Amino acid sequence: MSKILVIAEYVDGKVKKATLTTLDMARQLAAKKGASIDIAVLGSGIGGIADALKGYGAGTIYVADHADLAHALAPTWAKVIADIAEEAGADVIAASASTLGKDILPRVAARLEAGMASDVVAVVDTDDGPGFRRPMWAGALLADVVIDTDTWVVTARGSAFDAAAESGGESAVEAFDAEPELASARTRFVSFDGTKSDRPTLDEADIVVAGGRGLKSAEGFAQVIEPLADAVGGGIGASRAAVDDGFCPNDYQIGQTGKVVAPQLYFAVAISGAIQHLAGMKNSKVIVAINTRDDEPIHKVADYSLVGDAFTVVPELCAKLAALKG
Ligand SMILES: Cc1cc2nc3c(=O)[nH]c(=O)nc-3n(C[C@H](O)[C@H](O)[C@H](O)COP(=O)(O)OP(=O)(O)OC[C@H]3O[C@@H](n4cnc5c(N)ncnc54)[C@H](O)[C@@H]3O)c2cc1C
Repeated sequence: MSKILVIAEYVDGKVKKATLTTLDMARQLAAKKGASIDIAVLGSGIGGIADALKGYGAGTIYVADHADLAHALAPTWAKVIADIAEEAGADVIAASASTLGKDILPRVAARLEAGMASDVVAVVDTDDGPGFRRPMWAGALLADVVIDTDTWVVTARGSAFDAAAESGGESAVEAFDAEPELASARTRFVSFDGTKSDRPTLDEADIVVAGGRGLKSAEGFAQVIEPLADAVGGGIGASRAAVDDGFCPNDYQIGQTGKVVAPQLYFAVAISGAIQHLAGMKNSKVIVAINTRDDEPIHKVADYSLVGDAFTVVPELCAKLAALKG
């Protein structure tokens, strides 16, 4: 029987939504392929993650708990994931198309000599059996692809799938005797400089407030974007121009070469709407464009357009939101 191995992602001891959206994709594939699902959790001190995933209908949760897996280095994690896949007899290895999945899964595919479909947005039926829909050319085209090799490696775009709900039952949890071979990895962990924020991260946020070059400086960006993000409880994003000009950190970047999001509500503030930016946000449920010009491409994808100077209209909007909240 076909078996799908889902790689768990977590942060600060909590399962990330990316794991649950990958599980949703895996369930859809399992239904078409007649497959069962297992989960692999890698890291150090990760028993709590395995426990949190027990109710999602996986047969077995493999726990590779090893000090040398504490940091998700691609060479060590890819080796252990390939080892688990072989032991589990998995013919599909799936992870989120997150920074982690993009980094590690191609190496898993190389190790297993498997074909790979990356950044998958749907599981589809084709004349050759189950296949995957994936964007090409910055989302201008959608291609349906099938994988010809016996083993498949797949990364799923988080914003294209729902977070899987618990399905009852209890998975077996099995310790996996990992041999990460850190010494021969030619990569070593130096430090992790994450952005500390109480706001939701871009991949988890239901509302995203993104700023662009029109905000003119880091001070302008903070002055306009932060109060609006706080007023709506949103995460903060940015165009590449805002990142390149040093207004904000580069993990805020949304677009073809940044993150892909599809929140319930997306504010594009002083962003022109270049195709590379649209590639990262055009599937948002409701888009609000705030721009001094009324002829920018962002208005073509916007549900609501507010034409005006962001330095004036955004504080007005925040004041009105505050008044509404009483
Ligand atoms: C290979 C490649 C990959 C790329 N990847 C990405 C990507 O991942 N993400 C991305 O965003 N871009 C990406 N880009 C860059 C992209 O082409 C654009 O250059 C970029 O998105 C422009 O950012 P912007 O809209 O902030 O700036 P601009 O295009 O300069 O637009 C600024 C906007 O602000 C408005 N404005 C000015 N002042 C105000 C004000 N006071 N109030 C309100 N509005 C105001 C202007 O009318 C204008 O619409 C990529 C480009 C290439 C070639």
